[in-house]
Amino acid sequence: MPTWSKYSTLFHSERFGYFLYSTMSNCLIQVDEPHYHFLQQLEMEPSVANNGFDTSFISLLKAKHILVEPGENEKLLMLKQYKKNCNCYGRGDLSLTICPTLACNFDCSYCFEHSQHDKTVMSDETIENLMVFIREKAESGKTSIIWYGGEPTLAFDIVNTITRKILASGVKLENAQLVSNGFLLNNKHLDALDDLKITNIQVTLDGPQEIHDTRRKLLNGKPTYERIISNIDRLMGSSYTGSCDIRVNIDKTNMNAFAPFRNQILKRYEGEKVSVHASKLKTPEPWGLSQSEWTDYCIRLYYEHDITTKSIFYPHSNETGLCVAHYTNMYVCGPYGELYKCWEDVGMPEMTIGNVNQKKTAENPHIQAMYTITTDTYMYEECRECSLLPVCSEICPKTWLEVRKDNSNSIEESCTHYKKHLSQCLEVFYDIYLTSETSKKLLNKPVMPLENRGFRIIANSTGSTPHQSK
Ligand code: SF4
Ligand code: SF4
Repeated sequence: MPTWSKYSTLFHSERFGYFLYSTMSNCLIQVDEPHYHFLQQLEMEPSVANNGFDTSFISLLKAKHILVEPGENEKLLMLKQYKKNCNCYGRGDLSLTICPTLACNFDCSYCFEHSQHDKTVMSDETIENLMVFIREKAESGKTSIIWYGGEPTLAFDIVNTITRKILASGVKLENAQLVSNGFLLNNKHLDALDDLKITNIQVTLDGPQEIHDTRRKLLNGKPTYERIISNIDRLMGSSYTGSCDIRVNIDKTNMNAFAPFRNQILKRYEGEKVSVHASKLKTPEPWGLSQSEWTDYCIRLYYEHDITTKSIFYPHSNETGLCVAHYTNMYVCGPYGELYKCWEDVGMPEMTIGNVNQKKTAENPHIQAMYTITTDTYMYEECRECSLLPVCSEICPKTWLEVRKDNSNSIEESCTHYKKHLSQCLEVFYDIYLTSETSKKLLNKPVMPLENRGFRIIANSTGSTPHQSK
C-alpha cells in the first residue's frame, strides 16, 4: 500500500488557490478545492487512495513520488546522491578562475580580499606551469575561464598571454568571463575581448553615483562612477559581441535604491546586451541582510517592481554542486600559481590546496575534501529528516562551514531559503507562470485550464513549464 511521502507539501495560497509540491520530483501541481480536500484526507489516511477518487490523479501522485511504496524514497535519495557525487567528483569539464594579480586600484569598504596591496603579477614560469596544469586537467572536456583578481585589467597582458597559449595548445576553450571593476577598461581591452573568447564582462556598480562613490572608491579615495559608466558606454558602442552584466552588491544601505537604479541603467542601454542583477553582500550586522531578509527583499522586488531574481523562486534538484568549492575539476588560481577552492579564500595561504609550480606537493589537501564532503547534506541526520533535502542545492560551502563550526543557534542561515519561504517563493513562481500563460493565450497556444481535470502540472523537475495540450 503506497503512503504519503514526507517530501510532499500541500499548501493553500489566499491569492492563487491550492497546490501540491513534491521536493522529490521537484514538481508543482495546482489542484481545485475537491482535489485539495481529497489530498488532505490522503495525507492522514493513505488507504483513501483506493476509494475510486479520480484514478488518473492517483496515477500522477504515484508517478511524481507523492504516494510512495515502502523503500521508494530511500532508493530515490540514493540515486540523487549518486548523481551528485558523479557530477561533483567526476573529471568533467575544467572550470578555472584565474587571478593574474591580486593588486587592485580600488579600496572598497566591504572587500574580503586580503592581499589587494600585493602588486605581484603572474610570472612567466607560473604561466608555463599553469599551462601544464590546464592541459592535464582539461584532457577530457571543455575549459571555461573566469578572469578575476584583484583587478584583472591591471594584468591584461597576462590574460592575453594565457588565452593565446590555451588556444594554441588545442585545449577547447569554451568561453571566458571577465570580472572587473570597469574603471580601467580601455579601447585596447575592448578590441581584444572577442579574440580572447570573453563572452561576458561583469562590472560592479553599487547604485546611483551618490551611493556607488561612497562605497567603491579608488585607493586614493577618488570616486569611480562616472568613469565606469563612460567605459560601459564605450563597451556597448564597440564591436564587442558579448554581454555586460552589472552587479549591484546589496546591503541595507543601498537596497531601496536598486530598483530605480536598475531601471535607469536598462533605459540607458536599451537594446544592448546589458543586464543588471542584485547580489547579496556578505556583510555582518547591522548592514548585512540575513538570508531571510534577502528572500523577503527578492519577493518584494518581484511584486513591487516586477524584477525576477535569478534562481530564487523555484528550487533546483540537489544533484549538482553550487560552485567551484563543490567540484573536483574546478579551481581558483592565484598569481603565485597557488590553488584554492573558494573565491573568498584568495590570498589566504592557509586555504591553498596546492600550487601549479609544485605539482606533487599539495598543501592543505584536506581543504578540498572539507568543502565537498563536509558540506554534503546527504551525510547529516538532520538533513535526511528534512523534507527539503532533495532540493537543498544552493548552499554556499563557505557559509555552511562558518555557520556550523560552533553549533550556533543560527544554523538555519546555512539552510536553503526554501526552508522558511517555500510557499511564498512558489507563489511568485506561479504568478510568473500566469503571465506566461496569458501570453500563450494571446498567441493562441494551447494551455490546460485547471477546470478541465481539477489538477494541472505547473512545473516539472527543472522549474520549466511542461508542454500543455488539451
Ligand atoms: S564556497 Fe561560497 S563563497 Fe566560496 S566560491 Fe562557493 S559560493 Fe562563493
Ligand atoms: S541544509 Fe537545512 S534545508 Fe538543507 S536539507 Fe539540511 S536541514 Fe534541510
